[in-house]
Parts: sequence; C-alpha cells; structure tokens
Amino acid sequence: MNVTRFAPSPNGSLHLGHAFSAIVAHDLARQSGGRFLLRIEDIDGARSRVELAAEFREDLAWLGLTWEEVPAQSSRVDEYEVAAATLAAMGLLYPCKCTRAEIAAASMAMGPDGPVYPGTCRIDPPAGDDPVSWRLDVAAAMARTGMLAWQDELAGEQVARPDLAGDVVLVRKDADTPASYHLAVTLDDAADGVNLVTRGADLFAATHIHRLLQDLLGLPVPRWHHHALLLDTDGNKLAKRRNSPSLADRRRAGEDGLALAAQLRAGEMPGGITLSTRLHDMA
Ligand code: GLU
Repeated sequence: MNVTRFAPSPNGSLHLGHAFSAIVAHDLARQSGGRFLLRIEDIDGARSRVELAAEFREDLAWLGLTWEEVPAQSSRVDEYEVAAATLAAMGLLYPCKCTRAEIAAASMAMGPDGPVYPGTCRIDPPAGDDPVSWRLDVAAAMARTGMLAWQDELAGEQVARPDLAGDVVLVRKDADTPASYHLAVTLDDAADGVNLVTRGADLFAATHIHRLLQDLLGLPVPRWHHHALLLDTDGNKLAKRRNSPSLADRRRAGEDGLALAAQLRAGEMPGGITLSTRLHDMA
C-alpha cells in the first residue's frame, strides 16, 4: 500500500507540470489501495501566499483527484527546531554567515543545486552577532552513517552521494524561513507516514541529502519515484513564472479538467509540451 503525497509550495499558481505530478502520485496511491496526501509547503514565510492553498485544492478537485490533507509546514516549526537541535548536539551543524554572492565567488565546484559551499565558516567560524544559518557538516555526517543506499522505482538502486551537494543549509538565517527545504521535507514525509516519495526528477539530487538526514535522525526510509518532467517547446522544464498557463487559468476559462487529466495520464501532452526522457539531474 503506497502512501504518496503532492507537496506544492504556495508561491505561485500550479501549472501542467504540477497537474502531472499530482496525478502520478495520486494514481500510485490509488492503484495500491493506499493514501494520497496533500501537504502545503509554506515554510518560506516571505514568499508564501496563503490564498493560493485554496486555489490548489480547487485545481486538484477540477482534475478529479481526491486526497487527505496533512498539516502545512508552517504548523510544524517546533519539530524542525527539535531536529536541528538534535543534529547540533551530535556536532554536525556549524554556523555560517556567508552570502550567496560570497559563496559564488569563493567556490570552485558546481553541485546539483549550484555552487558547492567551500566550507569557509567550517574552517574559520564566524564571530560577532550577525544572523547565521546552520549548515550540515556532510563529511562528518557521512563518516558517522557509513555508506547509504536508496531505491528509486524508475532509476533503481542508488548509492547516496550527499557530498555532491556539499554542506547544505538546514536552518536558514532569515526569521521568515526557519528550516530549509531539505530538513522540513524529510521530517514531514516521515511524520505523515509517506512510504513512496513521488516528485519530479528535478529533485532527484536532493534525495541524497534526505537519505542522509533520515539516517542521522532515525527516521523510516521510504522509496522514491522521481517522475519525468514536462518540458516546454525550448526544452526547459515548465516553471511557475514562465511559459505555461496556470491550472487556475485553464479552469476559469472553462476547460474540462477531467479530460485534461485523462490526456496527461495517456502521455498526450498539450500544445508543444513534451515529457523529458532523462530521469534525473534535470535542474
Ligand atoms: N515543495 C516543493 C515544490 O513545490 C516540492 C517538494 C517535494 O516534492 O519534495 O517544488
């Protein structure tokens, strides 16, 4: 029995790529007699717009999906803090005051999510009272866990390579966003009982970090299903702020949501959109 989830961030309207993602997760749950969860990922207080959550629910219902909604991230901040304190007590977090620009200028290596942090503040801890973020010391964490593996339903068995992303931020310095995506999503999937994490292939690389966090925090290990991405006519993945009409626009224009869902299930992509064949590393 699969417990899957669709976990949109309410910082822009949903587009066809989200519809596809939600349908894949929904169907993988239903086909196994399992549960399909909706979680609003509103950890980014500055960018989240509360009213979009209502729009998302209308979009999903228009596509003919049914779901159980689990608590939004904004209601789980205390749990994120407890987990961060646990990792800090294990000596695996260090404070960092570097800005994005400083990291881009200093780092030599590119990781799956941009420049890899070169460890500046691990080597030379920051002084003063400026706000700091907290980074995971990935080498120390991996030394503690040993080699880890994870299972993707499409890509097969993977050896976890959290080192490729480097020392990621787990606690952000801006007060609006207390935990990073990596920490919040890992804890939420465990708390919600998700046993098949279904999401786009653009998040494939993030799973290496999540697998490490699960081991460190003693969380259950789910399976993953990173599905293909919808690409626009230029071969770029569809983006909220770019090229594709939102689901809400289509719905309000009177389009038939059930017919659209049937089309997406059949792999018939509307208007110039294609499905990527690459299963991972698509940022
Ligand atoms: N909240 C993320 C997004 O909207 C998805 C996270 C996930 O599925 O793990 O892109």
